[in-house]
Amino acid sequence: MRRAMVAGNWKMHGTRSSVRELIGALLQQKLPDNVDVAVFPPSLFIAEVVQALAETSLAVGGQTCAAQAGQGALTGEIASSQLADAGCELVLVGHSERRLILGESDELVAQKFAAALAAGLTPVLCVGETLEQREAGETLQVVSRQLAEVIRVSGIAAMARAIIAYEPVWAIGTGLTASPEQAQDVHEAIRLQLAAQDAGVAQVTRILYGGSVKAANAAELFGMPDIDGGLIGGASLNANEFGAICRAAGN
Ligand code: PEP
Repeated sequence: MRRAMVAGNWKMHGTRSSVRELIGALLQQKLPDNVDVAVFPPSLFIAEVVQALAETSLAVGGQTCAAQAGQGALTGEIASSQLADAGCELVLVGHSERRLILGESDELVAQKFAAALAAGLTPVLCVGETLEQREAGETLQVVSRQLAEVIRVSGIAAMARAIIAYEPVWAIGTGLTASPEQAQDVHEAIRLQLAAQDAGVAQVTRILYGGSVKAANAAELFGMPDIDGGLIGGASLNANEFGAICRAAGN
């Protein structure tokens, strides 16, 4: 039985005061005991969020990391080992905004995934197709290729130490959500891809759905057999909404 997870990606949002306010409101939420909850603040605020959530069960993650685990001369980057040192337990790799806007390739994402594992972090590997790719019938091919490169570099066993987030690009921040059936189809294909190499790994690896998840649609999505929770963008900036999504994952 896989434990449900809900992760909030705050992206490049927040000021010192709004982050303090959001943490305060999050601490007021009644969160279910049977769901792992994590937040991914902008790196500038990681130390503060780690400190504020220290006495809670909420985990903190980075939104990206360098492709090398150790420190070095790489201006502006953050090493996975530095995230771990700051108290992070997880890190997002391959978010579509970084793949598409910042040009991160499958190869670079796979290196970042390996660097995260090397630092003892749990990588949350984001995969997903664009609208054009979906319309061209390429969804499963694209997602499979993104996943295959990570498995090629880190090996299938590594996937049991990671989390996968299926995030159709056309559903991110657009208000368009994949239907539970559309999402389930891709989640099932991802699990079958894992199972083709290791059935045990496929059984335990959590696959989250991301793309305009809100309290109103969360329960339906999380009710699908291969959807183990959600990666939440916009709605994670509202503590009440995020809390309700976490409770939906616990039911
Ligand atoms: C995301 O960016 O990971 C995401 C899922 O965003 P949103 O929930 O806003 O669509």
